[in-house]
Amino acid sequence: MSSNVVWHNATVTRARRETLNGHRGVAIWFTGLSGAGKSTIAHSVEERLHQAGCRTIVLDGDNVRHGLCSDLGFSTLDRTENIRRISETVKLFVDAGVIVLTAFISPQRADRLRARETLGVADFIEVYCRCSLAECERRDVKGLYKRARAGEIKDFTGISAPYDEPELPDVTLDTQALSVEQCVEHVVQNLVMRGVLPGGRV
Ligand code: ADP
Repeated sequence: MSSNVVWHNATVTRARRETLNGHRGVAIWFTGLSGAGKSTIAHSVEERLHQAGCRTIVLDGDNVRHGLCSDLGFSTLDRTENIRRISETVKLFVDAGVIVLTAFISPQRADRLRARETLGVADFIEVYCRCSLAECERRDVKGLYKRARAGEIKDFTGISAPYDEPELPDVTLDTQALSVEQCVEHVVQNLVMRGVLPGGRV
């Protein structure tokens, strides 16, 4: 970074934005195999929070890969850079006092750890959408597993690229056993428990 770049001190701080919003800024980081339910749950939680008057945004793989990370592929190095850029972007939103929901496979444990470091433990909630590969393949929401099995997509998580299961996620959602509504409730209760927003609001 150039030494001529000077950080400008703002008078409107994160704390003031959070007071205005009536809730804290935080990152809810969904991880899991393709088809495990990350996007579905992230958008459903967002709907619930939005209806409660919270400031929210969902970042997911497809929208980020069309813009911010359109130059990146799916090699280990590119996946790392993808998550790094996303983490820095999420940090800006959290500083803006927004509840950010991210829906990325984020298969590499080291990358998720770095995201946690970038954002800080207090602002990072790792939500593991746990679902067997067999069930994700059965759902095959986007037809990608079929194509990966046919060899048409290389480096596909679960088939030809690894997924490191979270060791100590903040929330685990068994999307195979629970309904979407039950999963949403778990996430919302975790937000209340952490004091992100008052229980009476949702
Ligand atoms: P991902 O974002 O992880 O790739 P999606 O949200 O796109 O996954 O797809 C998950 C699919 O599983 C959807 O078709 C959804 O309706 C279905 N599903 C069934 N049960 C659940 C659940 N408990 N949570 C989330 N999705 C579920």
